[in-house]
Amino acid sequence: MSIISYVNGSYVDHKDAKVNIEDRGYQFADGVYEVFAVINKQIVDYDGHINRLFRSLNEISLNSPIVKEAYIFHIRNLIRKNNIHDGLIYLQVSRGVAQRDFKFPTKIKPSLVITAKSISMENYYSKFKQGIKVKITDDLRWKRVDIKTLNLLPPVLAKQKAVENGCEEAWMIDSDGYITEGSSSNAWILIRDKLITTPATNSILKGITRTSLIRALKRKNIKLIEKRFNKKDIKNANEAFITSATQFVMPVIKVDGYKIGNGKVGKYAHMFKDAYMEAIQLK
Ligand code: PMP
Repeated sequence: MSIISYVNGSYVDHKDAKVNIEDRGYQFADGVYEVFAVINKQIVDYDGHINRLFRSLNEISLNSPIVKEAYIFHIRNLIRKNNIHDGLIYLQVSRGVAQRDFKFPTKIKPSLVITAKSISMENYYSKFKQGIKVKITDDLRWKRVDIKTLNLLPPVLAKQKAVENGCEEAWMIDSDGYITEGSSSNAWILIRDKLITTPATNSILKGITRTSLIRALKRKNIKLIEKRFNKKDIKNANEAFITSATQFVMPVIKVDGYKIGNGKVGKYAHMFKDAYMEAIQLK
């Protein structure tokens, strides 16, 4: 079965899907994106992701190429056309096609591309059982990482460094020595029974999974502190995690070679994963 993607108003065979070489997304990373998880054919946290897309568009003065209500229609079509049970939807809006020039072109139509792929929840659950390893890298990004832009070279380099060091994720550290977040996830540690995550300022992307997990944990009376944490705090942690639309809640068992707790997936990881899955009503 061929994969179907959505490109500027048409559903096309993925291998024939093309964008113009003068698309500003390609030349300047002048655009924004979202990633939605699909579980049991249902879009996870749809409202959170679509609202963040519109916030990102607004922050870079880019108009949506379609009305807000139309996005769910195209996403559902791709889920159906690609027969996705569990999967990921990638959606990107760029400023569009124009002769290369830094300033915004006056007459330009934004480009919209949406792709879909299947994922295996079994793979997620077996990765969860193992936990992942994290490498600390410098946070080399710009000052508005709260906007989900296409400008991803620093996290690409951070993730590559993590992989070269036998790790699955990078935790980026700012010039004050505090962890901001993962290259493509939010970062959390647990010290005794207190859960700590970096506050949602301009220095991190306010993850939709992060927000849903916080809401779920409030109902379970878990003590959450939104504050910055450093390498010393990580050494004192008994558990650690990342969250994202693609990893849900994923335990971290080692950071820069140091074992977190006993180096095994802890009981809070299970509790948080279950609370999250329950909150998105897919458990
Ligand atoms: N931070 C960064 C830098 C990310 O790229 C992501 C994933 N898009 C996240 C956090 C997690 O966000 P979400 O839970 O909305 O996927």
